[in-house]
Amino acid sequence: MEELWATLNDNADKMEKFSHQGRADPGKSVKETVEERLLLAREANRNNVLFGLGGGFAAQGMADTNEAPSPIGMMHSVNLLRKIVIEDYDGGAAPDFSQVPPLLSRIRELFRVFYNFKVTSIRTPDLILCDFDHVFDVSVIMHEVGLTLQLDPPRLQALMDQIGDEFEKVVLDTEPDVGPYREATAEYMDMYGIKPSGQVYWRLFRMFEKANEDDAVYATGWFYIDILVAFMLGTAETAEQKRLQKKALEKLVFWSCDKKIRGAFGDCLADSMRPIYWDNDLLTRFCQAGGLGAILGDGGMNVSSGIAGTAIRTLPDAVWDMESDNSLPTTSKLLLDLGEMSKHRTADDIFLYGCHNIYKRYGIAPFIRAGESDEWHEPEFFCYVAQRLQDEGLPSRTEEEWKKLLGDFRKMPVTVRGRYRWSGLDSAGRWQFIDYYGCDNRDCSEKAELLRHCQRPTGDEAINKEMDRRLYEWGKNMVICDACRSKPYCGVNCQQAAASSHAARCALIQRRQNQAINPPPADPMGWFQE
Ligand SMILES: [Zn+2]
Ligand SMILES: [Zn+2]
Repeated sequence: MEELWATLNDNADKMEKFSHQGRADPGKSVKETVEERLLLAREANRNNVLFGLGGGFAAQGMADTNEAPSPIGMMHSVNLLRKIVIEDYDGGAAPDFSQVPPLLSRIRELFRVFYNFKVTSIRTPDLILCDFDHVFDVSVIMHEVGLTLQLDPPRLQALMDQIGDEFEKVVLDTEPDVGPYREATAEYMDMYGIKPSGQVYWRLFRMFEKANEDDAVYATGWFYIDILVAFMLGTAETAEQKRLQKKALEKLVFWSCDKKIRGAFGDCLADSMRPIYWDNDLLTRFCQAGGLGAILGDGGMNVSSGIAGTAIRTLPDAVWDMESDNSLPTTSKLLLDLGEMSKHRTADDIFLYGCHNIYKRYGIAPFIRAGESDEWHEPEFFCYVAQRLQDEGLPSRTEEEWKKLLGDFRKMPVTVRGRYRWSGLDSAGRWQFIDYYGCDNRDCSEKAELLRHCQRPTGDEAINKEMDRRLYEWGKNMVICDACRSKPYCGVNCQQAAASSHAARCALIQRRQNQAINPPPADPMGWFQE
């Protein structure tokens, strides 16, 4: 056990170290820099295999790799690609690059064949052409090719001079092949939202599982992002270079922000984007083109989180300035992206840094809007923030104060959080959750009447409008029991009326809360004792 921990820590240190290596440097050859950049991928792969995480890059090909590769198979294609781009180019005479686009298409086709089998277990004759030891072998060779083109601009230019149009079609104009299940899952979620119920939920759940088995994009991810980054690096001089630079930037922002595509790329995306993190100007351009949310997300949960975290802290102010007519939707979307991240509590500081920066510039409006979103299934924090900031007269807050806000929120029992959700709901939402979030006094007369109306709405617009107004009034001055901070009431009267019936429950809730603070012993049954 000790040994395993030591290995784990050792690997984490190595990953951190490798993630900073591989910057372009005139003192190093392209080959040396490429090797350094590959260290992170190799280490990540080694960990995957070592800890038996299965899936991903450990997946094995379908043919006996002891035999010579089939001339139209995977290994043949990827080795030929490497030979043309890396070995045959000597700086002077450019080799014939014309095979590069068809080889890339071929590799893509074969990954589709392979993952269709992985996901469905249905065999097709082409499977025999998937003749690699591990997916990683193919991926890392492609990554090497991608990096070599990226770090050697004259080589990329020679390739573009020969086959620019076809290469652009394959690399920039073809959307990543996320696989049929991921496509279908995305369509389903568009139709039913993120929280479908019943049968639809189970169908979606199974589709999700299938989608996650499809790693075709993951397997080629490094290469494609390496190339996009290659187009983005350096100063574009000709009109054509400028066009490509802009297009590559837009593509990369889209791939990083689109949930379906981003999910398919996995860790490759953050790994390959390291040159962007290293270059403050480039990072700024990326953020301003709409990629800020993706960058903040990377700070939370990736192999490059260390780099992303550092880079985020040094983002220039301009990054946070959105165009004015677009700023509300953009910033509330940004908050929701951040919210996703706050679920992984390792990234709290970046989450709060983001909240702080948005609040500083845009005030309370993005928080109110984010709180109203039903895209994210836990928007209570934003409802809570919006209300606290409103209550306290919008003081300007320091990052320390933000930390306290989040701390207060997390200490709150779930029912109290719900109360903030309620106050953030619109009229339709309030009617829907009236029983759930409303007053906890069993004999609340106003609640009874509102519920009666809710169950039998009249066709009379004037009455409906009046009831709508009463619903708002009813929810406006909610109070909670101070002792247990758990039960909401529509006002002090109801709280007092419910006091005696609530007493026993109040004590119970308090006991539970204290227990939650002092957790029970870890070994209550004496299981581990001699
Ligand atoms: Zn009441
Ligand atoms: Zn109580």
